[in-house]
Amino acid sequence: MFRPVNFAGANVRPEACPPSVADGPHIQETARQLMKILVPVKRVVDYNVKVRVKSDGTGVETAGVKMSMNPFDEIAVEEAVRLKEKGVASEVIAVSLGVAACQETIRTALAMGADRGILVESDAELQPLAVAKMLKAIVEKEDARLVILGKQAIDDDMSATGQMLAALLGWPQGTFASKVTIEGGSMTVVREVDGGLETVVLTLPAIITTDLRLNEPRYASLPNIMKARKKTIDTMKPADLGVDPAPRLTVVKVEEPAKRQAGRKVASVAELVDKLRNEAKVI
Ligand code: AMP
Repeated sequence: MFRPVNFAGANVRPEACPPSVADGPHIQETARQLMKILVPVKRVVDYNVKVRVKSDGTGVETAGVKMSMNPFDEIAVEEAVRLKEKGVASEVIAVSLGVAACQETIRTALAMGADRGILVESDAELQPLAVAKMLKAIVEKEDARLVILGKQAIDDDMSATGQMLAALLGWPQGTFASKVTIEGGSMTVVREVDGGLETVVLTLPAIITTDLRLNEPRYASLPNIMKARKKTIDTMKPADLGVDPAPRLTVVKVEEPAKRQAGRKVASVAELVDKLRNEAKVI
């Protein structure tokens, strides 16, 4: 007998029906394998905002700009919450590293169904290697067996943190995941690669990074937003995790992409060919 599963919403809560002898050996075995899932959620400029480069070319303007959870991290939270609803995970922990306002990003994850949060507070610029080192320390402290990250943060497009974390932990990784199935101690991940889809089987503990087609994240309902206010967020500093977050990369310059030239209409195919040949010199 399986416990009820509800993929569409959070109506059926696994903790409301814990495994019992009546569930039979399969569910009792699954319960033994229940694991904590860590979901790193980054606070980034909202994807609807038109990004502006600072006038001194040192970075992107964030003052007075709407900030939100990195969209790929919303997909990661959704996947983790679904795994909990399926009875595969015991707890979902959302982690954010950055300024104090990252609390809001964690609250969003909590309203989507994560159980508790961890904020690693730092005003320093946190680059992927420092983030990966701090996440490693948290994974070990929490004894988490699965970390689901976004495939990339849309602010700096590094696409590096998940891979670095896998290397630091010595864990297998299923990056750019569009389908994840966990059975027993192993996990099958369908990956989006240039030529199509690649399927890999990983042994847990492991790392996943999410691609766009993995799922459609739920909207947090008002009651769940209210409930999220009561969930715990532990706050710590990089030094508490024994990590020096000093940047290893120096940003030399940030600039806007070149403005596109206005288009021109031509009267005939002959004129088009002539312009391509004699003006653009592309044929
Ligand atoms: P990146 O390697 O910067 O493109 O980020 C990839 C993923 O790592 C993001 O989608 C997040 O899941 C995670 N991540 C990176 N930086 C942070 C951060 N400061 N706080 C929380 N998660 C982060």
